Amino acid sequence: MLRVNPSLAQDFQSLLARIQAASGAPVKLVAVSKTHSASAVRALAALGQQAFGENYAQEGVRKCRELADLALEWHFIGPLQSNKCKDIARHFDWLQTLDRASLIEPLARHRPPTAEALNVLIQVNIDDEDSKSGIGLEDLPELAFQVVGAPCLRLRGLMAIPAPWPDAQTRQASFRRLHTAFMSLKAQFPAIDTLSMGMSEDFEMAIGEGANLVRVGSAIFGARTHT
Ligand SMILES: *Cc1c(COP(=O)(O)O)cnc(C)c1O
Repeated sequence: MLRVNPSLAQDFQSLLARIQAASGAPVKLVAVSKTHSASAVRALAALGQQAFGENYAQEGVRKCRELADLALEWHFIGPLQSNKCKDIARHFDWLQTLDRASLIEPLARHRPPTAEALNVLIQVNIDDEDSKSGIGLEDLPELAFQVVGAPCLRLRGLMAIPAPWPDAQTRQASFRRLHTAFMSLKAQFPAIDTLSMGMSEDFEMAIGEGANLVRVGSAIFGARTHT
């Protein structure tokens, strides 16, 4: 098991200050705890962080269970295989990576009737990369319509991981395209309220382009020793 970052409290406080400096409006921080131990999550929760993001279903479910005594909010942010829908629907509060209609039915079916609706972000492949999951912008309205019509799911907005373009202007243009897509979707579905973009390397730029949820891992927990 990995050690907890010895400067966790300091790194967390300086991240919060940077987020605040970059934004005029409230921005939600999802602390990405993939590969980090349940003790690291517990240590950050003790500093006041509530929302955590996990990429792998098995690892995420294990931590949800181990930390069930804490009132945490769990976000699934990894690629979702259909055989993992049950785990996600049962244990997570948010799914940020819905990218195809075939996942809707199993997610809705496995959501416990006593739980609140699963909050859903649709993942957009904003730079049309072959290697990345996410739906193309042209197919977004139809998928959004299907999520809105599904029981036990609540469409909240969009998420993307832009390509790591070497120059800042091109990266900025990707964020801007996602923001434009978000605004036109919001015109159709006024209840959506969440635009998830920005990670350790680029959250300030993402906030500048309209992100109101950022997913940050290594700037809080330290570098990951494996993916
Ligand atoms: C790992 C990961 C992050 C966090 O990345 P950092 O660079 O460590 O901040 C954010 N979003 C997704 C989808 C990730 O997989």
